[in-house]
Formats: sequence, C-alpha cells, structure tokens
Amino acid sequence: MGHDSIVPRHVGNVPHRTYAEMREGAMLANYGYKDGAGDFFITIDTDKCTGCGDCVEVCPAGVFELVEDEFDIEAEAPIAAVANEHAKKIKYSCGPCKPARGYTAADLPCVKACEPAAINHSW
Ligand code: SF4
Ligand code: SF4
Repeated sequence: MGHDSIVPRHVGNVPHRTYAEMREGAMLANYGYKDGAGDFFITIDTDKCTGCGDCVEVCPAGVFELVEDEFDIEAEAPIAAVANEHAKKIKYSCGPCKPARGYTAADLPCVKACEPAAINHSW
C-alpha cells in the first residue's frame, strides 16, 4: 500500500476500525471496516477538504457530516467526516449508489460533487 506511516487513532466516536494515516504526506481519515467480503472504507483527504459541504448535500443516505478539523488545530473551517452510524454499515449505506456492476467511482454523487477530489472509496 506504500504507507509512509500509520497513525492508529480514533476519530471522534467512530468505530474502532476507523483510523487516520499519513500517506505520501497527506492526512487521510478512513471510515468503515473490513470483513470477509472485502474492505469497505471511505477515505477523506483532510488537507484537500475545504469544508464546502457539497458531499453532505448530494449524498442521498446522509453519510457525511461536517465536523471540527482535529487533524489541524489551526484550521478555521470544518471538514467532512462519515457519520458514526454510517461508518459501521457503510457498504449498506452506499448500496443504492452502487449497483452490483456497471459503476465507477466517478459515477458516485459524493465523488462527483467534491471539486478538490478529497473523497475516495475502497470498493
Ligand atoms: S465535497 Fe469534498 S471538499 Fe466539500 S466538504 Fe465534502 S469532502 Fe470536503
Ligand atoms: S456513494 Fe452515495 S450513499 Fe455513499 S457516500 Fe457517496 S453519495 Fe453517499
């Protein structure tokens, strides 16, 4: 995976499998879990996120919320995060956006809406 370093860290009250990491100089907040079917994580690049709130508006499932940026104590703007209730069932929350076949990450409303390309999905 090419991680520079892993910083195990809880993000707010989100589930224990959610963690933050430094990868190639960027602080990435990962929300989700791993199970027998695969890795189901939404990753938000907290340096790229401007806190514009567009992902909050377009997500039909209400997955995102704006929170204080705990990765940058000097930040004045909030950043996007995955709400706790969705992080633990993210595969199912995103189900309506993800048919079994025939979609790409670029088709997802949240990815399309995020101008600085701060959102990634692992599946
Ligand atoms: S759309 Fe992108 S930049 Fe805007 S709040 Fe969401 S993650 Fe951050
Ligand atoms: S894929 Fe759909 S449901 Fe999942 S976070 Fe993005 S907009 Fe929301």
